[in-house]
Amino acid sequence: MIEMERVTADLLALLRIDSPSYREAAAAAWLVAQFAEFGVEATDDGLGATLNGNSGNLIARVPGNGAPPVLLNAHLDNVPPCEGVSPAIEDGVVRTDGRTVLGGDDKCGCIAVLSAVREVVTNGIPHPPLEIVLPAAEETGLEGAKGLDYEAVTARRGFVAESGTVGAITVKAPSADRWDAVLKGRAAHAGVAPEKGINAIRMAAEAIAEMHVGRLDDETTANVGLIRAGEARNVVPPICTVGGEARSHDTRKLDSQVKHVRRCFDKAAKRHGGEVELTVSRTYERFDVGLDEWPYVVADEAAQEVGLEPLARPTGGGSDANIFNQHGVVCVILGCGSSEVHTPDEHVDLNDLHRACVWLAKIIEIAGRD
Ligand SMILES: [Zn+2]
Repeated sequence: MIEMERVTADLLALLRIDSPSYREAAAAAWLVAQFAEFGVEATDDGLGATLNGNSGNLIARVPGNGAPPVLLNAHLDNVPPCEGVSPAIEDGVVRTDGRTVLGGDDKCGCIAVLSAVREVVTNGIPHPPLEIVLPAAEETGLEGAKGLDYEAVTARRGFVAESGTVGAITVKAPSADRWDAVLKGRAAHAGVAPEKGINAIRMAAEAIAEMHVGRLDDETTANVGLIRAGEARNVVPPICTVGGEARSHDTRKLDSQVKHVRRCFDKAAKRHGGEVELTVSRTYERFDVGLDEWPYVVADEAAQEVGLEPLARPTGGGSDANIFNQHGVVCVILGCGSSEVHTPDEHVDLNDLHRACVWLAKIIEIAGRD
């Protein structure tokens, strides 16, 4: 039985440990001690050196029966402001004092994985071999999952424990591209010889004004999120850098949005006699797990067995699930209870988190029947 008191105590303890991206070591150490309590050794994979952080990915392997191995994932890091979190419980809901996020994204996921594995191990419930992967630096661009040694991963199926409604099973996520534009004009004295200058801010502004951004259709979004330029009021700015992104469940739509962005910049640069350099890279690849595929079928069946209403849904966000799916580990994302994530209003209903822990334990149990 997964005790509500234990889940609550574990969550509060972990929430009180600062775990910003690149400084997850203290949270990782707490988890190592928790796993050790029931004989599971968790170790750091050393990726921290590459990430310039104090922690790598936390990895634990739990031997199991003859069923195919299963990967379990939740990430160690939180988005800022996440230091000095002061959690308080009111009517069964954990909130912050409004100065920070709660960190339930993804400490709820970590607690779900910890509680579910503890449950099956300590009760001798037959289970498949478990490969527990708790990455660092997820929020900064899925860096931990991208740097994982996939040769060492044997599981071909898995579950990502994340924020969201308990019972929600995310089966589909978009591909994403990020782009950076450097607009190059020419500096000149703004009062003495403005005609000698080419205003890079003006070029950027005209390009952005023509650009399609926001929700472009039901499976495509686009944004301009960064702009930097200017040294002084009386200088025609020679350089302006602009950063943005696009996401789509359909990669053709993603490609055409990126082409459109390039056209907008090219046209504006040409109009003013300036230049533009655009660099584009794929942040992560889409995935789409069928409702007849093993991870969904098991998550759905387990949800029903524990009295949850399973709900298959798409997301517009990226997560470690994108990276695992890309590497051939078919994963769905399980909602573990935290809501309003990435804001100071983030909160967790303890009943929901407890139900998420019970759900994940049931998933592991069903996976052990294969
Ligand atoms: Zn997350």
